Amino acid sequence: QTNERESMYLVSEFAQKYFSEVLWEREQGKAIGLSYFKERGFTDDTIKKFDLGYCLDQWDGFTKAALNKGYQLDYLEKTGLTIVKDDAADMDNKKTFDRFKGRVMFPIHSMSGRVLGFGGRILTNDKKAAKYLNSPESDIYHKSKVLYGIYFAKQAIAKEDNCYLVEGYTDVIQMYQRGIHNVVSSSGTALTSDQIRLINRLTKNITVLFDGDAAGLRASLRGIDLILEQGMNVKVCTFPEGEDPDSFSKNNDYEDVVLYLQENSKDFIQFKASLLVEEAANDPIKRADTVRDIVNSISKIPDRIQKEIYIQECAQIMNISEAVLFNTLAQIGKKDV
Ligand code: ATP
Ligand code: MN
Ligand code: MN
Ligand code: MN
Repeated sequence: QTNERESMYLVSEFAQKYFSEVLWEREQGKAIGLSYFKERGFTDDTIKKFDLGYCLDQWDGFTKAALNKGYQLDYLEKTGLTIVKDDAADMDNKKTFDRFKGRVMFPIHSMSGRVLGFGGRILTNDKKAAKYLNSPESDIYHKSKVLYGIYFAKQAIAKEDNCYLVEGYTDVIQMYQRGIHNVVSSSGTALTSDQIRLINRLTKNITVLFDGDAAGLRASLRGIDLILEQGMNVKVCTFPEGEDPDSFSKNNDYEDVVLYLQENSKDFIQFKASLLVEEAANDPIKRADTVRDIVNSISKIPDRIQKEIYIQECAQIMNISEAVLFNTLAQIGKKDV
């Protein structure tokens, strides 16, 4: 079992080196992959730092190269790098395909820097294919337990005593390049307690940065309760319509990004209360749901004094009596036990 996992780590490390070599050395890699990253504004240093790469647009160019180097098909399949299919015409024969064919590659590193898996971005506008494709779950890659960028960010998170949590790979990379190093991403999946625990070891402060597309906002607010549960302090910051931390960091210099983050980071509970009030407006039924929703978030906070302060603040924001909020809190408390 340990040997098996070690073999999977070795295959993944080979893949990372191979995809990077293709990006930097091969004609197609340079013309397609490297120029894509440069167009996004990534410097050579950044592309190297994050071990970015390119998987050639061939059926099994990577798989063949790995087999030639003596890596076993079994581990290529277990890491998901290679897809193995039976040949319909010849049952003794297997067909192999590179999972990430034609994609630029973002290796996902563990806290200690080992390659666990990959995210791959498509470069065409093919609406049928997923924009990003990830390695499947495996014995070495548990997507609910890793945060993209944590290896590069961990020192800065501890030093700054704060962690920025963004939506995607490119947000992490662009912010890092702009000089903000304490940034990680859950890469499109819903935030989990295990991921938050990774951050909790380094700091008690998280600032969640949302894309300015509002699409994911409501859904993502739920995940933030998990951060409160761990007794952490949560702020949130949204970006202008159509912008995300990637585009914003690309188009503004360091001082302006830092200033924007400072001025627009809001306490999560206050933010959520204001947002809910806005949405519910004059609809009494909706407002009742809203009250329960916000009190539910407050109920996750372990510290009693903090809870009480938030109840007072939300009573003001939502224009409702503290007594009602305290009652709701007590009811939720009973349901939990
Ligand atoms: P880009 O700037 O390259 O278009 P992004 O990072 O801004 O991408 P978003 O659409 O904001 O992409 O999505 C955020 C994250 O969600 C992505 O970085 C990726 O990890 C994940 N994601 C997005 N689309 C998909 C998809 N179709 N399948 C799987 N994961 C996805
Ligand atoms: Mn988005
Ligand atoms: Mn985005
Ligand atoms: Mn983007």
